[in-house]
Amino acid sequence: MKTIFTEDHRLQDGKAELIDGKLMPCFEMPRRAEIVIARVRDQKLGEVVAPERFGTDPVLRVHKPEFVRFLETAWDEWVQQHGSYDALPLNWIAPGMRRILPETIDGKLSYYSFDAGTPITAGTWRAAIAATEVAMTGMKLVKGGERGTFALCRPPGHHAGSDYYGGYCFFNNAAIAAQGFRDGGAARVAVLDVDYHHGNGTQEIFYKRDDVLTISIHADPKQEFPFFLGHADERGEGRGEGFHLNLPLPWGISWAEYGPALDTAMRRLTEFAPDAIVVSLGVDTFEKDPISKFKLKHEDYIRTGEVIAAAGKPTLFVMEGGYAVEELGVNAVNVLQGFEAKS
Ligand SMILES: [Zn+2]
Repeated sequence: MKTIFTEDHRLQDGKAELIDGKLMPCFEMPRRAEIVIARVRDQKLGEVVAPERFGTDPVLRVHKPEFVRFLETAWDEWVQQHGSYDALPLNWIAPGMRRILPETIDGKLSYYSFDAGTPITAGTWRAAIAATEVAMTGMKLVKGGERGTFALCRPPGHHAGSDYYGGYCFFNNAAIAAQGFRDGGAARVAVLDVDYHHGNGTQEIFYKRDDVLTISIHADPKQEFPFFLGHADERGEGRGEGFHLNLPLPWGISWAEYGPALDTAMRRLTEFAPDAIVVSLGVDTFEKDPISKFKLKHEDYIRTGEVIAAAGKPTLFVMEGGYAVEELGVNAVNVLQGFEAKS
C-alpha cells in the first residue's frame, strides 16, 4: 500500500491548547506523523510518495470561500494585532446571539472556530493546505486503480465544517477527498469515520446529500467532545435523509462492543454500494490514549482493517486523531496491514 506524506505537516506546531481547565502543550503535535511514517517504513508497508499540488480548488468544493480566505490571512491579522504568538479565540456564539462576521481578528477567530484547542500558528495555512493535497493525491491513486492508499494527513480534518475549524482540524481532508471522488466520476462515495470523536464536520458537510453516505462510530456526545452533534437520531436531512449514520458508544467500551458497531456500519455501507470508501482513520480509540476513554487494543486495529477490507471496495485511509503518540504508528499501520491481509 502506498503512503502519501510530506514534511510540511511540521509547519503546524502549536504551543498550547485549552483542555481540562488548563493551557497544556498541544496533544496534536508533529511527532504524531513522524511516529506513523517511521512505522510505515519499518514495516515496509509500501512506497512513500509526496503529494501533488492541487491548490485551493478542491478545498473550495467543500469549504466556504470566506472561511478559506479567513484561514489564509488569520495569522497575519493576528500578528498585526497581538504579536507573533499562537492565536486562540476568546469566546463563542450562544443561542440568541447573532452570527454576524466581526471586523477584528479576535471576533473572526470566535466566529469561525468552536474550541480553544486549535491554535492558528505561523505555518497553519501551509500545513493545512498540504494535508488536503495529501488526501487528494491519495484519492487520485485510488481512482487510478490502487486497492488501498494511506493519506498520512496532519493536521487532521474531520472536525472541520464547511465554514468553521476546531478539534485540531482546519480543512476536512476526508470530505475533500470524498468530493474529489465524486468530481472524478464516482456516483456514490462512503465516508467511514472510526476516530474516537464524532466526525461533526464531515456530517455537516454532507448532511443534505444522498450521494455521499457518512457513518461515524464514536464516543457518545452526551459524554464526550464535541458534545453538540453525533447523536443516534441524526440521520440526514432532505435528500440526505437516511444517508448519515451515527453509532455513539459509551465510555469504557472494548472490542466486544466496538466490533458489532463496526459490523453495523459495514452492513449499511455495503447496502449503499459505494464506488469508493474514505476511512477517517483515528486511533484515539486506543486503551492508553490520554484524552479518550475507549479500550481498544493493538490487535483490534488489525481486525478493523480486515472488516473494512471485506467490503471489497477501493479504499482511501485518511489519518485523523490518536494521541498515545508512541503507539500511534503501531495502531495506524495495524489497520492498514489488516486491510492488506484481507484484500
Ligand atoms: Zn479524535
